[in-house]
Amino acid sequence: MTGAHDSAIETEVLVVGGGAAGLHVALESAEAGARTVLVSRKPLSESSSFWAQGGLAAALGADDSPERHAADTLAAGRGLCRTSAVDVLTRQAPGAVEQLQARGVRFDAEPSGELALGLEGGHSARRIVHAGGSETGRAITSRLAELVAAEPMIAVWEGASATALWGDRERCVGVVTDRGPVAARATVLATGGGAALWQRTTNPWGAIGAGAVLAKMYEVLAANDATLVEVNPLALLADGRVVALDSKVTIDDNALWRHPELESLRVTFPIDPVEARAREAGLQYVKLDGEVGIIGNGAGLVMATLDVVELAGAKPANFLDVGGGASAEVMAVSLEVILSDPSVRSVLVNIFGGITRCDVVALGILEALQRVTPGVHIVVRLDGTNAVEGRTILTQANHPRIVPAETMLEAAKRAAELAQAA
Ligand SMILES: Cc1cc2nc3c(=O)[nH]c(=O)nc-3n(C[C@H](O)[C@H](O)[C@H](O)COP(=O)(O)OP(=O)(O)OC[C@H]3O[C@@H](n4cnc5c(N)ncnc54)[C@H](O)[C@@H]3O)c2cc1C
Repeated sequence: MTGAHDSAIETEVLVVGGGAAGLHVALESAEAGARTVLVSRKPLSESSSFWAQGGLAAALGADDSPERHAADTLAAGRGLCRTSAVDVLTRQAPGAVEQLQARGVRFDAEPSGELALGLEGGHSARRIVHAGGSETGRAITSRLAELVAAEPMIAVWEGASATALWGDRERCVGVVTDRGPVAARATVLATGGGAALWQRTTNPWGAIGAGAVLAKMYEVLAANDATLVEVNPLALLADGRVVALDSKVTIDDNALWRHPELESLRVTFPIDPVEARAREAGLQYVKLDGEVGIIGNGAGLVMATLDVVELAGAKPANFLDVGGGASAEVMAVSLEVILSDPSVRSVLVNIFGGITRCDVVALGILEALQRVTPGVHIVVRLDGTNAVEGRTILTQANHPRIVPAETMLEAAKRAAELAQAA
């Protein structure tokens, strides 16, 4: 469950699940004119819906009513049913049967042509319809799957698993699947129940209750300002509780002030001392595994610098974003932080002056070099506000470790060469 994805497929409606519920919603969505993608973890013929062998209960008889159906259901459920769900189910059941008939599902009929209504356990009236005897689920889902396949507005991804909901913490904007992300204006979770988690079950292995878990994970993400929530694996305890045996949660640093209870967890984890030093100074520092230390101002420029260093044949050892106001003090601390990483073989300082003035940055670099004695070369590329003045300051200082460069590519190449030669 993560932030942005550049390569997402886009659709208007995304339906996760290819059982009766998913197929039905996908058809409704396409018929309303929306481009729809349906993803199903298992082939459509392996849903619980496909294997459902009984029939559909609906108050269709002359002596029956949804209220009577609801009362029977609640009595049979013996306190386990949610009344609001039973109410929706029993009121909508007759219409659902009629809609399935209109879609071409052939329910079993009496010789007179009337629907054959069966009387089964828990029901006080004849109200069970079947299609093909004990093959009701197969008959319904096969017909709906046929209609879905013929519908040009629907794309079906069979064998694709949704592994996370994708959102901006305000709303869900799609899902991440094992075939890549799908962005959608509306996402419908129709992933069925979790009955396959029990040791003995008649449910197919696809019935793992993924939707409820994905929704809960998203809740954790949104409530805690997380940028990532990952769980592997989940365990079902004998008493019915579901427990995450291992998980990884990354909290957005910028939102930590809203979660003092999480901030206090920091002390229980070992923190890289260099990172701690940067954090103390209010700087964004990230440790990587290469050999060129990178300082830049602004996330975009820093990311571009990482790419250009790789293009030049080296790997970034770390990077530090000095942000908007790169004062002499900030530059001095930044260099101290970057140089305290023993894997750094050269440093590339890439500053684009705007509000930040390049002459101030140059003075900061020189001040830092009075505090630390660098064992490596520092390539400096200054551009933008007062760049000429900044470069002049550095040239006049004639420091043996400073290597001025004109362009970003030239600077990256010099930093890569110097790192390889060190
Ligand atoms: C043997 C059996 C007999 C039954 N008999 C009856 C009966 O007689 N009458 C009755 O009313 N009910 C019966 N049921 C229950 C009924 O089948 C289910 O309640 C109903 O089919 C649920 O439909 P659904 O579309 O919500 O879910 P399902 O049919 O379970 O479909 C879920 C779909 O979601 C997909 N999915 C799951 N996780 C992911 C993921 N992470 N990413 C992408 N896709 C995912 C699955 O592959 C599947 O396609 C029976 C069930 C079984 C197993």
